[in-house]
Amino acid sequence: MAESIGNSGKGMKLHTKILLGLGLGATLGVLANTLLGSGHPAVQNINTYVAGPIGQIFLRLLFMIVIPLVFASIALGVAGLGDIRRIGRVGGKAIGYFLVSTAVAATLGLIVVSFVRPGERIDAATRTRLLETYATDAASRVEAAQTSSFGIETLVNIVTRNPFKSAVDLDLLGLIFFAFMFGAALTLIAAHRAKPMIQFLEAVNDVVIKIVEIAMKLAPYGVAGLIFGVTSRLGINILQLLAWYVVAVLGALIFHVVVNISLIIRFLVGMSPLKFFSRIRSALVTAFSTSSSSATLPTALATAEQNLGIPPSIAGFVLPLGSTMCMNGTALFEGMTVITLAQAFGVDLSLGQMVVVMIMSVLTAVGAAGVPGGSIPLLVGILFMFNIPPEGIALILGVDRILDMARTTVNVCGDLSATAFVARSEGVWNASMVPAVAGLDTSAPSLDDSPGWPKEPVAVDPVG
Ligand code: ASP
Repeated sequence: MAESIGNSGKGMKLHTKILLGLGLGATLGVLANTLLGSGHPAVQNINTYVAGPIGQIFLRLLFMIVIPLVFASIALGVAGLGDIRRIGRVGGKAIGYFLVSTAVAATLGLIVVSFVRPGERIDAATRTRLLETYATDAASRVEAAQTSSFGIETLVNIVTRNPFKSAVDLDLLGLIFFAFMFGAALTLIAAHRAKPMIQFLEAVNDVVIKIVEIAMKLAPYGVAGLIFGVTSRLGINILQLLAWYVVAVLGALIFHVVVNISLIIRFLVGMSPLKFFSRIRSALVTAFSTSSSSATLPTALATAEQNLGIPPSIAGFVLPLGSTMCMNGTALFEGMTVITLAQAFGVDLSLGQMVVVMIMSVLTAVGAAGVPGGSIPLLVGILFMFNIPPEGIALILGVDRILDMARTTVNVCGDLSATAFVARSEGVWNASMVPAVAGLDTSAPSLDDSPGWPKEPVAVDPVG
């Protein structure tokens, strides 16, 4: 494996560096705030000329790729589904399961975050300062609130009149719709005509993933700059929010596996959840250690076939598709992050807007690449859509590694439950066919084997 995002070259892992950046930026920021005060000229100058610009450059690198990434990954995903017509019912069931389970996960996340309210776990004075510091001008806020309220126009507006305008305005729903249409139309034209466009989109996809990789190299500095900006202005209080947020997201992810997926395995698959989890353990451990659904695909396939006895015809179709399309953990995480930051920045979201957040979380989770941090650029896009200052991403990026490991594990768990569900409902497999002895060693792979970002993104070939 070439140098990967998980390993930034000279020994220290990138995520360790990001954590160090967070720690250093936060400590210096809190010190500056308590010793000098946020209004001190030195603190202001550091924010204006050093910390601010570094943080902004990092954020802009992520923003830069939102549009090509969303378009290419969704158009390609839909174009890849073209072959589903050949596979028919199995494909329909798999996609249905992906969407429903992802929507359930996202809804769970929204319920938990509405109860725990991590974004409001800061005192009133800090909140007021947060709002003053990051308030965008009132007019644009009102306009955004109006355009993102949920109504019949929301549905009509999804059908964009001008995909370029949607792209320029970062109107993700419009763009996603266009990408769906584009991908669907690609499956309807002659294969030899579609091929060059698909290859072009694959290349675009590879290029944007490369840019994410480059941007992430800047992340330790960007995160340090951004968090310095936040803590030097707001003091230590803001870090409480972070602790609540991490606990809430991890709690919701665990709940989704222990309750939702277990219920599915028990009642729709007809298998003991404990046995299911123990049989898929090596895939879960691989997902946890690599933070990449794509990199976990080979282990997930081996697990499904050798440890659960699921026929390769089903596993070989559902798992590759699921590794990029079915991201329960990612959707749950995205929804919770958007709402936490909205709470913190005082952006009031109505119930209708929460529904839009849920839908966006599901759609962007489908569009996210199965690589470490694959959902971050899309998350930045959703924040923009709801007029939530993207600086908030600084707060969460510092702790994202652990959340990424956890949500990827849930993503892979979802993929495997989808495979078992489809196999069972097709009548080609049931729990009694689980081999008495697991074929694949279920011991944990060494963390040193962690491939990090796959050099070549794993292509999704539903019929391959
Ligand atoms: N790392 C996740 C995965 O590969 C994607 C993400 O949520 O960033 O499944």
